[in-house]
Amino acid sequence: MARFIFITGGVVSSLGKGLTAAALGALLQARGFSVRMRKLDPYLNVDPGTMSPFEHGEVFVTDDGAETDLDLGHYERFTGVAARNTDSISSGRIYSTVLEKERRGDYLGKTIQVIPHVTNEIKDFISIGEDEVDFMLCEIGGTVGDIEALPFFEAIRQFSQDKPRGECIFMHLTLLPFLAASGELKTKPTQHSVKELRSIGIAPDVLVCRSEHPIPDKEREKIGLFCNVRTDSVIAAYDMKSIYEAPLKFHEQGLDQAVLDAFGISPAPAPNLSVWEDVADRINNTDGEVKVAIVGKYTQLEDAYKSIKEALTHGGMHNRVKVKVEWVDAELFDKEDAAPYLEGYHAILVPGGFGERGTEGKIKAAQFARERNVPYLGICLGMQMAVIESARNLAGITDAGSEEFDHEAGKKRFEPVVYHLKEWVQGNHKVKRKAGDDKGGTMRLGAYNATLAEGSKVAEVYGTTAIEERHRHRYEVDIKYREELEKKGLIFSGMSPDGKLPEIVEVKDHPWFIGVQYHPELKSKPFDPHPLFADFVKAAIDNSRLV
Ligand code: GLN
Repeated sequence: MARFIFITGGVVSSLGKGLTAAALGALLQARGFSVRMRKLDPYLNVDPGTMSPFEHGEVFVTDDGAETDLDLGHYERFTGVAARNTDSISSGRIYSTVLEKERRGDYLGKTIQVIPHVTNEIKDFISIGEDEVDFMLCEIGGTVGDIEALPFFEAIRQFSQDKPRGECIFMHLTLLPFLAASGELKTKPTQHSVKELRSIGIAPDVLVCRSEHPIPDKEREKIGLFCNVRTDSVIAAYDMKSIYEAPLKFHEQGLDQAVLDAFGISPAPAPNLSVWEDVADRINNTDGEVKVAIVGKYTQLEDAYKSIKEALTHGGMHNRVKVKVEWVDAELFDKEDAAPYLEGYHAILVPGGFGERGTEGKIKAAQFARERNVPYLGICLGMQMAVIESARNLAGITDAGSEEFDHEAGKKRFEPVVYHLKEWVQGNHKVKRKAGDDKGGTMRLGAYNATLAEGSKVAEVYGTTAIEERHRHRYEVDIKYREELEKKGLIFSGMSPDGKLPEIVEVKDHPWFIGVQYHPELKSKPFDPHPLFADFVKAAIDNSRLV
């Protein structure tokens, strides 16, 4: 049976709750325990799949096809445990399940209420698979006091009462602001936040306090006293050079020890931190820097491409170089020459995206990279744009485009080299879609196999010809253009196992030009960089030597 750690936040949002939870997961693993991590989000969307990246950052996709919060990406990157559909839940999903049950008559005529019906649904969700691991870490999104989060706080309070004593603990993250004028760290917001938590029946066992300045022992004691937490369970979270130092830094501050003490696990097994020591060494001992342009649409919000940024960092760690990522807005050169915007980068990455805006710029970025021998990695939409570029400029299909843009514009303007995929095979069943279907959860989602061509660049990069990668797309490159494009040098080097869906393209006689229909960034880890990112960064290094 798992022990449960509930992670909540207070004072302000964006304190790094997900990261702290993920680092704690990694530290428990380092002590030999198995973990699973979960996110409970208070918003009313059923999942974040339909939210704009501007609203919510990247949508992280699991192997089993769930569209989830980007914190699940942190969880995977730190623990290496593949997240599942059942590791992410929102109020929207809870309520829609409750309402479905009500319509079905499952509640046998009862009045449906937040307590117990909604809270029971949340508790059922929390306990899924509880006998599989030693620790279940559940993070509650938002901050204590948010109206919509109340049912979640109530549910975890009840949950801890339902369990035998000592099987659940609460960890609360707060901020200690520094007042420059008086040169003081202020503990009052933390006191208020804990008071708020206690007023709904939750007493934190461990407090993690974000601070830009060292927390003196005196302040730590004060926080402990006023918040009713043991002084050695008041843990400092200081700013770090890299998020991947978090496990080591939190260990230094005694976070894992405080958690094990709170559970009464004594003696605590000694940690083996060698993986994280190696990771820290790779961050701190680099030789040189490469500059990579990410040419996209959601460039104002870095979180929109979170996993790509992290995967590039992992690629840098693999090669022991610093990867300097710059965000280039594709719309800037929709109608003009891309060269002035892209010269000076050692490699170009065009990430996934939706909608037509900025796509002409992305097509130009692919053309620039292809013609100038600059390493290019196209991901999902970035692959589709590379194919359209080759179709237009190599195969002479001058009106090549994607049906996605025609659908958006409501009229036919393009030859659909990329078309709306309406039927495909998943495992051993057929999936069918039609125009006008719901937008939520209807894409080709989750892990699918692909077969790589012997002797291709990608087969060399992966070191195998059978791969499994995560997908999230509605449109697909049309295989009927394969022969024509291959004749001109765009090779279809990866296909779905039934040979129907192009998964990878690469440009022949180019140092490094690869487009993939899936999202390799979702599986990259600091201690296990994704081969495509490791090799892409290596190609950028090789290119930097030429410039
Ligand atoms: N909009 C494209 C599609 O749906 C690409 C999606 C993506 O880049 N994730 O196929």
